[in-house]
This record gives sequence, C-alpha cells and structure tokens, in this order.
Amino acid sequence: EKISREKILRIAEEKNVEFIRLQFVDILGIIKNVAITIEQLPAALDGKIMFDGSSIEGYTRIHESDMYLKPDYDTFTIFPWANNGSCTARMMCDIYLPDGSPFVGCPRGILKKAIAEAKAMGYEMFAGPEPEFFLFEKDENGNPTTNTHDSGGYFDLSPVDLGGEARRDTVLALKKMGFEVEAAHHEVAPGQHEIDFKYTPVLRTADNIATFKFVTKVVAMQHNLHATFMPKPIYGESGSGMHVHQSLYQNGENAFYDPSDKNGLSKIAYYYIGGLLKHAKETTAILNPTINSYKRLVPGYEAPVYISWSTQNRSALVRVPSARENGTRLELRNPDPTANPYLAAAVMLKAGLSGIKNKIDPGEQTTDNIYEMSYQERKNRGISSLPSSMEEAIKYFQESQFMRETLGEHTFNHLVEAKKIECSVYKKQVHQWEIDQYLTTY
Ligand code: GLU
Ligand code: MG
Ligand code: MG
Repeated sequence: EKISREKILRIAEEKNVEFIRLQFVDILGIIKNVAITIEQLPAALDGKIMFDGSSIEGYTRIHESDMYLKPDYDTFTIFPWANNGSCTARMMCDIYLPDGSPFVGCPRGILKKAIAEAKAMGYEMFAGPEPEFFLFEKDENGNPTTNTHDSGGYFDLSPVDLGGEARRDTVLALKKMGFEVEAAHHEVAPGQHEIDFKYTPVLRTADNIATFKFVTKVVAMQHNLHATFMPKPIYGESGSGMHVHQSLYQNGENAFYDPSDKNGLSKIAYYYIGGLLKHAKETTAILNPTINSYKRLVPGYEAPVYISWSTQNRSALVRVPSARENGTRLELRNPDPTANPYLAAAVMLKAGLSGIKNKIDPGEQTTDNIYEMSYQERKNRGISSLPSSMEEAIKYFQESQFMRETLGEHTFNHLVEAKKIECSVYKKQVHQWEIDQYLTTY
C-alpha cells in the first residue's frame, strides 16, 4: 500500500488539512515536531524541510547541525480533531544530512537497518505492543498530580470514571487514524489503563507507538487529565509495562509455528527466544531506559525480574501465548513505555536474529512461579536476574559489542554518556523516604 505524492496532496486538499506535523523522535524516544503549513507540503514531500539538529537530544554532531526531514509517505495520517474546520496531519520522517546521506543517529534509521538484516535472512518481523499508562488528575493550577479519578480495578466498569471516558475517546481517535485497536481496558492499579493494538510490520508498530503516546496525551488533556507513561508512578501499585508480542514471517508464513513440536514451536522460535534471553541483560538499558523503570521490575506486580521463558506463567521474561498457526508469537514482558520504540524494536529484533544465527538454545521452560523460588532454587536451575537498577543496566550495556553494533557508535556512545549523567545526578539526591526513615530516628 504505497501512497503517492499526488495522492497525499489531493487528500490534504480534500480534507482541508492546514498544518502538517513532520514527526521524528530524539534518542530518548521523545516525539519531536516540525510543524509546516499546507503551502510547504510539496517541499516537505521532496525532503526539503530543514531543522537544527543541535537542539535535539542525541543528534548533535559538531559542524553538522543542519538536518533534513524525509517523510515516509505511508505514514501520512490526519489527526481526528479539527480547529475551525481545518485539520492537522502527521508524517513520520527519516533524518538526512545535507550531503544526502542518512543520519547515523536517527532511531528510525537504526530500526530500518535491523529490518534490512532480517530481510536478508528471509524474515519479516511483526510486533504488537501492549502499552499501559496512568491517567491522573490535575490540581487547581493545572499541574499533574498522582491522584486518580477512579476506584476501578482490572476490567472494572465504574459508572463515574473520567479516565474510562478519556480512554474510550483515545481509542476512537486512534481508530479514525487507521489503528486497529485489539483491546482497551482498565488495568490493575487505580487510574491505570491499557490499549493494545494489532500487530503490524515492526516499522509501522514503532511509528504507531510514538503516535499513540502523543494521541493519548492530547485526549487526556481534552478531559483535563494527565496521561503518563512513567513506569512506576505510585509505590505499592502495579507499574506500567509495554509487553511486545513478536513473530517472524517467512514467505508469507509464520516462521515460529511447527505443529510437530510438543509446544507447537519451530526451531526458529526457540532460537529467537534463546537470543532474547541471552541478550536480556545488555538490552535492558534500551527496553527499560529510565531510573524509574527499575522500580517496576520487582517481584509481586506481574512484571518480570528473572531471565526465563514459559508457555504458561506470567512471571517469565518471555511468555508464549497459547495461539498457534499464524498467531504463533512470543511476548517479551520487560519493555516499558519509556523505551524509544525504534531502538527497542531494533534491539529485540537483533537479539532474536542473533539467536537464530548462533542457534542459541533457550533451555527448558520454567513452569513454576519464579517469584516463589528461593535464591538457591533459581541458582540450581540457572535462572539469573535482569539488572536491578539503571546503573547495573548501563554496565552490561556499555560492555556489549552486540549493542554497539546494533545501535552504531554514535547512538551507543551518546546513550552511555547521557544515562551515566542521569544515574550520577540521581544518586546524589536525598529522597523523601530517607527523610521519613532517618530524620528523627537518628
Ligand atoms: N502491569 C504489569 C507490568 O508491569 C503487566 C500486567 C499484565 O500482565 O498485563 O508489566
Ligand atoms: Mg496489561
Ligand atoms: Mg501482555
């Protein structure tokens, strides 16, 4: 379904599009916009719109701050809200340098490289994300709080639930934008929600995640709420994850399915799991990239802590849902919605491909609840843990040749530096908990 330049210009005119947001993400996955008016659309489609890369996190290269936006025509989508009858559209962009070469630090470009490698091996990756998020009230000054407006639990239907209405409107907006929403429901914690969208080719999935977060925040604002994708906003409650269901297709068939196997899984599927598990420690810095991410990865809240796989229990890092045939897929459970969707997709795919190339055996699955095992039991079974802090994650990341190759020198080095600064600033803070615990005791 390639859409042409002429068709975009025609639709833009027919639908009264006045503004176009040329979107891309910075190295941290934060969505950026260069907004243009309809008059500039032809030039934008020709990749002639420029911006100053030096103000974008992770884009700086000395003497090379001029960068060009090359929109991906297939991502042309009109936002479903109008302003005085005129509409705004978005296109996701790749970043280029003035000499016409792709910018090595463009996260979308890094994912495209991984996709090309999969293609050379005969595979196409599909991914379906399950982002969770909180909707919080704002105070009288309009600043976000961590108070929720509902008392609902998992799948609850409460009659007075502002959050439920915001979620419903988010789903409607996404549908109008062409998303196939598979499920939307309240999650375990008060004020926590989840919207799952149907699997698509992984580049589209990453684009969708970026847009999804933007749309969710806009709709929440329209309801006077604040949407946050911060993984663990409330102590003692479930955190927000972003499980990613993934599969490989080869010649139009699901390459993970094999009816003759006892679990219905192909060798390729086992190797892919092997790759995800083998690289789990070094990929965590990308899949769980904030200090707060590690407050979610603790036992007791359906978030993974240990490196294992299972066809049955949800304490495992990789779960194999029961669907088979074309629905055969793996669910990786540690990613959270603060992950840069392009870099996250790239490292998951590359980890899986590494498993296939190196024929990595994932070992026996774990059918028991790992949270309940003792340290010795885990040790005997060879189950190790995910990094338990950003600091630890960065250590594994920094030493990983695999991550260096996957992300490229530019992005790899920049992330190590940025994340180390984040850790060292955090480390020096004195938290409220410490005050409460020690101020009067000592
Ligand atoms: N909120 C849980 C997490 O942190 C996941 C709950 C679920 O299984 O959907 O990953
Ligand atoms: Mg969930
Ligand atoms: Mg899930």
